[in-house]
Amino acid sequence: MEDIHYKLNQRLDRKIRAFSISIPGYLPGIIPWAALCVLLIFETHCVNRNGASVSKNAADKQKTTSSYNLSKTPYRGEIFTDKSRIEKPDREWKKILSPAQYKILRQNGTEPPFSGKYNRIKKRGIFVCAGCGLPLFASEAKYDSGSGWPSFWSPIHPKNVGTKQDGSHGMIRTEIYCPRCGGHLGHVFKDGPRPTGLRYCVNSLSLKFRVKK
Ligand SMILES: [Zn+2]
Repeated sequence: MEDIHYKLNQRLDRKIRAFSISIPGYLPGIIPWAALCVLLIFETHCVNRNGASVSKNAADKQKTTSSYNLSKTPYRGEIFTDKSRIEKPDREWKKILSPAQYKILRQNGTEPPFSGKYNRIKKRGIFVCAGCGLPLFASEAKYDSGSGWPSFWSPIHPKNVGTKQDGSHGMIRTEIYCPRCGGHLGHVFKDGPRPTGLRYCVNSLSLKFRVKK
């Protein structure tokens, strides 16, 4: 009986040893290093991808900045300063402006869409304030937004168009105005085209067009 047990144990022992031989002794030690290498390769790949993405964004930003500056036609005209501010009593504005212009510029009115004479104009030139003549927008930044009002993706110079919050008509909007005479121009929205993503939606009655010579 003992002899049978001994033989069985011996056979079992041989099988266990055979199995052990098939797994090299160095393998358990290698597994953590192999896992670490795979992790490092993966991490390196991710960093490179992110790096490439960052570089691409930087290039885009540079491109955006140069477009925003209207580099093809740098603006050398009048830039608003506090000293050039104009203040007139209402009776004076009523003499200078037509009743329709007065309603828009001095009483924050809005002309009906597709009614303005500058909605579809495509000539090269600049749009100045109908109240005081301050240059506001360049034709290079004008585009057809389909809204029915003249639309621009940038002012002619950041200082030449003022912005303030407007909570009228149950909406929170950003009003745009002429910083020199305080005349109401329209509103600016964040659904414009590249490069700024802005839409300066302006009443034609707030503007006067001057053809570029
Ligand atoms: Zn003005």
